[in-house]
Amino acid sequence: LEDIAPQAWENTPALFTLPRYEATSHKYSAGDVTVLCGELAGAARLACAAARRAGAGMVTLAATTPMVLPEAGLILRTDPLATLLQDARRHTWIVGPGLGVARAGDALAQLIAAGKTIVADADALTACTGAPEKLRGTAIITPHTGEFVRVFGEIGPSKLEAARRAAATTGTVTILKGADTVIAAPDGRAAINTNAPAYLATGGTGDVLAGLSAALLAQGMPSFEAACAAVWLHGEAARSLGPGLLAEGLPAALPQVMAALG
Ligand code: AMP
Ligand code: MG
Repeated sequence: LEDIAPQAWENTPALFTLPRYEATSHKYSAGDVTVLCGELAGAARLACAAARRAGAGMVTLAATTPMVLPEAGLILRTDPLATLLQDARRHTWIVGPGLGVARAGDALAQLIAAGKTIVADADALTACTGAPEKLRGTAIITPHTGEFVRVFGEIGPSKLEAARRAAATTGTVTILKGADTVIAAPDGRAAINTNAPAYLATGGTGDVLAGLSAALLAQGMPSFEAACAAVWLHGEAARSLGPGLLAEGLPAALPQVMAALG
């Protein structure tokens, strides 16, 4: 952890207020999230499950080929991206998990051009290797250390300052993941999250974080608050499960964690 934490917020989610469920809510107003799905479909499906549990009312898996969807409330669409982009209700998108680098890079550019609210992760970040300017126009990026280094170069002595620089360069809220995840905003705000247990180091947990981030954005939270809330909820959900957790168990642990926030 950094010596100088700008905000101490371990177990104190003081930086955000979760969206309220309103009597007048309907499934579209409660947040619409579209997740691009590639060959490694599990990654996108984990993001979908997390987005649904975090309160997004409509979650669409945008695939290129039909597949069996066991989750009754998840929508599958196989329309071309250009068609889906025309639907103004699809304002929030996740691009990257399991998508393949070439497709992710292409989709990222199209989503940015269409002015969508974007969470860029995984292959979408790798598609920006050495080219951080390609991320300008995204709302939140969620690199792990390897992805961060690919896009922005070495982290250097301070993970906090590295994340801040990345946020300032790209104009996007940057979640630099790890045991001490740093969340940095382009305006210099930053937080360090300390509730994440080491047993989060298992396949698919990053995809769950992308889903959480998008769901909170889709419900109208500002990017920095959404990112802080997503990272904190992710850590709490993990703690509630304990060692041996699997990424696919995290979404179902969210209701209990969110209920405890009151
Ligand atoms: P990814 O590498 O994209 O699958 O994301 C892994 C997720 O697990 C991120 O949210 C990381 O912050 C978290 N994570 C990975 N390793 C650790 C660790 N040793 N301690 C706490 N959280 C971790
Ligand atoms: Mg990942």
